[in-house]
Amino acid sequence: MTPPGPVVGVLSLQGDVREHLQALQAADARAVPVGSAESLASVDALVIPGGESTTMSKLALADGLMDPLRRARASGMPMYGSCAGMIMLADRILDARPDQEAIGGIDMTVRRNAFGRQVDSFETDVEVPAVGSPDFPAVFIRAPWVEEVGAEVEVLARVARGSSEGTIVAVRQGSLLATAFHPELTGDTRIHELFVDMVRKRA
Ligand code: GLN
Repeated sequence: MTPPGPVVGVLSLQGDVREHLQALQAADARAVPVGSAESLASVDALVIPGGESTTMSKLALADGLMDPLRRARASGMPMYGSCAGMIMLADRILDARPDQEAIGGIDMTVRRNAFGRQVDSFETDVEVPAVGSPDFPAVFIRAPWVEEVGAEVEVLARVARGSSEGTIVAVRQGSLLATAFHPELTGDTRIHELFVDMVRKRA
């Protein structure tokens, strides 16, 4: 008998919460929405969805959730952020609103809406060695990219845009995972499986 999966919350202030809940269930986690400090305390790990990081930041501050989120992260709770969620996990944000705050934790500089107007949204297959082949169908929607990472950060994927080496679009640092793209919108659950696996290994 397989043991019951870990309980993974999805931060439900704003964004594509339902899609992440479904992807996590498909990846054998018990997925629950998290909208309060009490519900945050009852999960093993947390997904921060795609959406709008400025709004998410504002709501987390207004609801008194930013500090509990930072404390959970500092105490080692595994967290995965997609798109706006990646921005929420960044230590440094470019093109942020002046009052925008983040949970932080990943030693990286991200640029919001980095791919620019012409390619506001696009889909491309990205090589992600950590999840094996085939390449991952990556959906980018007004996505950030990662401009700089510290020595502790593992680069998981790049796309051929911007610099000649390719632009960083997925990273991991310890128990924190972030992608500039939205695996929750694709039906391909390998990124969620990778995260659930990180959660199991930590437990
Ligand atoms: N552009 C959004 C932001 O800055 C992110 C977009 C997304 O999550 N699809 O928060």
